[in-house]
Amino acid sequence: MSQSQSLQLNAVENQPLFEQNELPPQFNLEQFINYQIASLQGLSAVQQAMAKAQKPFSGVSVSTLAKTLNDVDLSKPLADFPAVLDELKSVYLDHAVYFHHPRYMAHLNCPVTYPAVVAEHIIAAINTSVDTWDQSAGATLIEQKLIDWTCQKADFPSTADGVFTSGGTQSNLMAMLVAREVAVERYAPGHEVKLQGLPAIASRFRIYCSEVAHFSIQKAAALLGLGYDAVVPVATNSKMQMDLDALKTAVSTSKAQGELPIAVVITAGTTDFGSIDPINDIALLAKQEQLWCHVDGAYGGGLLVSENHRNALNGIEKVDSITIDYHKSFMQPVSCSAFLLSNKRYFSHITLYADYLNPLAEAGNGVPNLVDKSLQTTRRFDALKLWLTLRTIGEAPLGYAFDKVIGLARQTHIVLNDHPDFEVINYPELSALVFRFAPADLQTDPDLLDALNLHVRSTFLKTGEAMIARTKVGGRHYLKFTLLNALCQLSDIRAVIDQISDIAWQAYKQEQV
Ligand SMILES: *Cc1c(COP(=O)(O)O)cnc(C)c1O
Repeated sequence: MSQSQSLQLNAVENQPLFEQNELPPQFNLEQFINYQIASLQGLSAVQQAMAKAQKPFSGVSVSTLAKTLNDVDLSKPLADFPAVLDELKSVYLDHAVYFHHPRYMAHLNCPVTYPAVVAEHIIAAINTSVDTWDQSAGATLIEQKLIDWTCQKADFPSTADGVFTSGGTQSNLMAMLVAREVAVERYAPGHEVKLQGLPAIASRFRIYCSEVAHFSIQKAAALLGLGYDAVVPVATNSKMQMDLDALKTAVSTSKAQGELPIAVVITAGTTDFGSIDPINDIALLAKQEQLWCHVDGAYGGGLLVSENHRNALNGIEKVDSITIDYHKSFMQPVSCSAFLLSNKRYFSHITLYADYLNPLAEAGNGVPNLVDKSLQTTRRFDALKLWLTLRTIGEAPLGYAFDKVIGLARQTHIVLNDHPDFEVINYPELSALVFRFAPADLQTDPDLLDALNLHVRSTFLKTGEAMIARTKVGGRHYLKFTLLNALCQLSDIRAVIDQISDIAWQAYKQEQV
């Protein structure tokens, strides 16, 4: 059987599609028709699965799905591509979690634009790696242009630069890496961490972030040899924003103890509450205290293109570095993120010159090798997704969509506040709300409330009717909505709130918890 026929023809029953000594089906012009057919078959499988997904999740249990997967023998390929897709339905598509569904309101996962999905096809088809110019050419310039665009949106100075990353976790790691290197330069001049490892004094370095900042800051500190304990959690105010006085106290307490404050992380959009720390005030304090000032805008970065709420990021232009997750608030498929530096010279801390990739001799001679700015080497051309989105619809609709979900969250806040069964923690600065089932009659029994709220969340996980998240506040269990789908209606939210209430009351009455 020739390769060009192989994917089109239904092979004879039980006869493997490919012989052992056949070459794999390459993506090339000769195979293009097969790719087109297979693509349409693949897309049609997705279409069917999405049409079938009346709920965001089937509610499948781990054990059921694991059993289906156990039955797959990877050494025995299936007869034809439609059969492969059929199997994919049972192991994945029928039971995926669908972020485009209006009743998906759990985590920071967004619906995506379809130009970005087309971009994923193109990214894989060309398979560019954006590490060096000689592996990417135009892709390097496209990425650079989007980085410049994002820097401009942040009102960063002309010295700014950035790079696409795999996500906020990596961007935050890069920020903390630069912060650590700057601190070493200051406190252990002449010491080269790249060559010698950490100087002893690094054990006194301290990083400040709010107590509700993202866990990736601690993770970064651990990876950088500073340890979790180097991260000082700073108390938040009633709006879940870092409390400026608490920050000042934390810094001066550290100093009195002989510790060395090196960095502060401003969260612009905390993962649980969407709260935005006071950017201007913290940036000013950071300057006075000579702290590296990083904004974790993984969630709130979307405000850069918002018409109504851009001012919530005022002051961002003053900071040293920014994390942006286009895959959270710019409707891009995972992964699509960036790390920005106000002054590009700090990328020298990330650069490691390797002769075969980016010889020092070529640095600064006009051949851009993005690997100089990245922790990754081979790297996907994720920028193309944002590029096709912006070239198709421009930035305004992205901002409009984000504004819309913020509006929806604020309406939801009113609904929850007015509802006798619920207690809501935060007024949403962005689109996340933390609340719990807590009718007045039951409030005397916090353990019961915990159990009921946990029961609600696990019930949804079993029915898949809606996907909501949970979190802990003050040691107690809460529920969380993260709204990122502008097609979600208040009626969807009201329906889910009613379901939550029904589930909880029923469990209470039947003493299920
Ligand atoms: C999601 C998130 C991160 C981590 O980003 P990933 O893209 O998941 O790696 C970091 N900070 C905040 C505030 C986040 O919400």
